Amino acid sequence: MRELDSQVAVVTGGSRGIGRAIALELGRAGAAVAVVARSEDRARETADLLEGPGFALACDVADPDECKDLAAAVTERLGPIDVLVNNAGITRDNILVRLKDEDWDAVLETNLRGAFNTTRAVARGMMKRRSGRIINIASVVGLTGNRGQANYAASKAGLIGFTKSVAQELAARGVLVNAVAPGFIETDMTADLPEEARDALFERIPLGRFGTSQDIAGAVRFLTGPAAAYITGQVLVVDGGMVM
Ligand code: NAP
Repeated sequence: MRELDSQVAVVTGGSRGIGRAIALELGRAGAAVAVVARSEDRARETADLLEGPGFALACDVADPDECKDLAAAVTERLGPIDVLVNNAGITRDNILVRLKDEDWDAVLETNLRGAFNTTRAVARGMMKRRSGRIINIASVVGLTGNRGQANYAASKAGLIGFTKSVAQELAARGVLVNAVAPGFIETDMTADLPEEARDALFERIPLGRFGTSQDIAGAVRFLTGPAAAYITGQVLVVDGGMVM
């Protein structure tokens, strides 16, 4: 018996990077997994790797109607949703004075509004069944801020406030809501960072290595399982000790 046997999980941004590792890890834990990305073809590349049941679904999390349809489609194909992982996220980095309106809006719409859209779409079902886990993938940057990432840091700080508020609202209904705050994880998102910036970051990591998507997937698996039954409204920092 695995801890997520007969449960249904939704992972947004599951087509690559951290989201792919989370989707596969929850599958290994026994869950049926809906892998969500804007592109169904890209999401399918992950869904094809799942050990158990699951499927790929196109949904732009920034669109509230698409998120309502997402919840309905997953429930119809796999059953009621037990686990939601809000992992979809983007960056549009620039220093404040060069930050364009559209770059501010795009980051907030996907990273923060997206989590609101999906959470609202699944929360009612979880509340009715008096159980559920929602995990929001934030960032250490949401705790510390970061030069050149005012939009991204604001979205992730907002996501942490959102996590704590919703955790308080849903606790009495048995729904647990937590955030994971990764540090520097090697994915497409961080691939373009200049060598000098990488070296400077590396120096700040006490564990002496960059993180992997699997490091984050392990933390998410923990927060979805029985060992985390008394944890809600928390931010689990997974960053090799970079931020203490
Ligand atoms: P990534 O490799 O760029 O992957 C992003 C994923 O999000 C893709 O699957 C992408 O698929 C999906 N996505 C983007 N916009 C979407 C939208 N509007 N609707 C649905 N899906 C969307 O990024 P990652 O590094 O794995 O990051 C995953 C999460 O971890 C993000 O929230 C990120 O902010 C957070 N994080 C990452 C790091 C890091 O160092 N990598 C550190 C801290 C936090 P499509 O393009 O097909 O839509």
